[in-house]
Amino acid sequence: MRSLFYTEEHELFRDTLRDFFQKEVTPHIDQWEKEGKVDRQLLKKMGEMGFLGLEVEETYGGMGLGFMYTAILQEEMGRLGSLGFNTVVGAHSYLAMNYLIHACDDYIKEKYLAPSVTGDMIGSLSMTEPFAGSDLKAIRSTAVLDGDHYIINGSKTFISNGYYGDYTVAAVKTDKGISMIVIDLDSEGVTRTKLDKVGIRCSDTAELAFDNVRVPKENLLGEEGRGFYYMMDSLQVERLTGVQGGIGLIKYVLDITLQYISEREAFGAPISRFQVLRHQIAEMSTEYEAYKAFTDQTSYRLAQGENVVKECSMLKYKVGDLMNDVVYKCQQMFGGYGFMEEYPIGRIYRDVRVMPIYGGTSEVMKEIIAKMLIDNKSYKPAYNSRT
Ligand SMILES: Cc1cc2nc3c(=O)[nH]c(=O)nc-3n(C[C@H](O)[C@H](O)[C@H](O)COP(=O)(O)OP(=O)(O)OC[C@H]3O[C@@H](n4cnc5c(N)ncnc54)[C@H](O)[C@@H]3O)c2cc1C
Repeated sequence: MRSLFYTEEHELFRDTLRDFFQKEVTPHIDQWEKEGKVDRQLLKKMGEMGFLGLEVEETYGGMGLGFMYTAILQEEMGRLGSLGFNTVVGAHSYLAMNYLIHACDDYIKEKYLAPSVTGDMIGSLSMTEPFAGSDLKAIRSTAVLDGDHYIINGSKTFISNGYYGDYTVAAVKTDKGISMIVIDLDSEGVTRTKLDKVGIRCSDTAELAFDNVRVPKENLLGEEGRGFYYMMDSLQVERLTGVQGGIGLIKYVLDITLQYISEREAFGAPISRFQVLRHQIAEMSTEYEAYKAFTDQTSYRLAQGENVVKECSMLKYKVGDLMNDVVYKCQQMFGGYGFMEEYPIGRIYRDVRVMPIYGGTSEVMKEIIAKMLIDNKSYKPAYNSRT
């Protein structure tokens, strides 16, 4: 069927991605899960193919494409069935790099954005602290100007790509309020500790401690004191790209389940003949189609430069719930095999639990939606639109 939102060029790009991922990613997922990291060489290859810089301007080595190409990349990563791999690439391209694209001058773009496009540098975003997660205004890390440098003190936690990555875009308190500063993670005074997680194990997650870390003052992003607005703006993209990946993952889970139930037999017939399973497949597929359409429409609106905070928040919590619901029901259809490491559905069950937590919890999403609908609160964009 012809899509309202994707052109023939988009679909050709999708085919290229599928070929690349089937060859370069699918065969390695289980090994990366065991090792607790994604091979840097793969990220470098993605950089060479242009996949890490889809929306970056060509001056800095990017492809200069629109947000619908990002939507395709994220969805196709989701369809690989590894939320861990998707998190590694997403945290780099749509958490860290999004700030470098939109809130930065040429100095930072040359120093960090260009090598991020090629995969020579891998980035992370440090907002969360041990005492400030949902309530980001409560962060305590500080940056104090001392001549040509900021001196950074404090700590961050749950930072994706924080252990194996090269730099972090950190929210810190300065004289003028919350500001964003790029910190090289191999600087003197930075300590990284790898955290042990329930799922998405090939995505590294770190606790970071900063002890009098000296950072050149040119590493400040945009204006001092505007950090909170930059975060609110970028969180839209963080949430929507997460949802695009989630939609792809739901499709993958439905596909492998349909295949399994048509092959597995019980009581002399494929289990796909049992009406209770058939109806569940019908219900889950209907919900998938509804949220896929809502996701594509919201992606298209964001690509046109519209402010879609409410819709991103709605999708973030709903698709997070749907991922968990679909995976639970599909795992049940695999019977005992669904509980074995040999089948991807078991790992995916562990992985999807994080979706209603990271990138802003479901409760916080509902607070945003309620404030916009009931209290007429609006969230103004901090940057120019994406068009
Ligand atoms: C695997 C993983 C990767 C992550 N990656 C990153 C990253 O790369 N960078 C980064 O900065 N952060 C990252 N995070 C952090 C993540 O965004 C936070 O965990 C999340 O925002 C919640 O913060 P918290 O854990 O401090 O929970 P809290 O804020 O302490 O919340 C605890 C509970 O209280 C509820 N709650 C809080 N406030 C309200 C309210 N107003 N109304 C109703 N309920 C409320 C929450 O919904 C939650 O259920 C990651 C987390 C995980 C688990």
